[in-house]
Amino acid sequence: KSVGKVSLEQIDSLSVRSFPPCMRHLHEALRENHHLRHGGRMQYGLFLKGVGLTLDQALQFWRSEFIRGKVDHDKFDKAYSYSIRHMFGKEGKRTDYTPYSCVKVILSNAPSQGDHHGCPFRHSDPELLKQRLQAYKVSPSGITQVLELVMGMHFQLACQKYFELTHNVEDAGFSLNHPNQYFVESQRLLTG
Ligand code: SF4
Repeated sequence: KSVGKVSLEQIDSLSVRSFPPCMRHLHEALRENHHLRHGGRMQYGLFLKGVGLTLDQALQFWRSEFIRGKVDHDKFDKAYSYSIRHMFGKEGKRTDYTPYSCVKVILSNAPSQGDHHGCPFRHSDPELLKQRLQAYKVSPSGITQVLELVMGMHFQLACQKYFELTHNVEDAGFSLNHPNQYFVESQRLLTG
């Protein structure tokens, strides 16, 4: 499916079917808390940009969620819209930031308490990861396979295994190195 044709209404269902666990978790945390800290906004915001959200869609997406929490329109415009525009290269040095690769997510800027960014395979406590995989409807034997890869520090292979288990394929047929690649491959399988 081509990038650039995503509606905001689709994001909830896409997050369940086609987002890798790092992004699904960020989406759920955003919906639940009506807020994400800077690290999460960067990781998730750039991913959504890679999925095909336009700047206008991104502003609408973040604003509509944040104003359901402690932030009003005025505060959103003052404190957050700049950084979203920045992400799209419309402010500051006008760098057009690219979405983070798995290696970047795994190796830099580890999440601390209250953060939701990072890679669940790398940064979640194994018991929490297990619970999350259960909630995502991975079978007990599938969870065992994923956790074995995590124990061997094969985080991207663990994610690829999760992809195979949740898409009912024996072999993903690609070597995972980017959350947006995960999304594209998932859409390719699910929508043909
Ligand atoms: Fe996200 Fe990559 Fe970790 Fe998968 S391996 S959860 S795509 S950072």
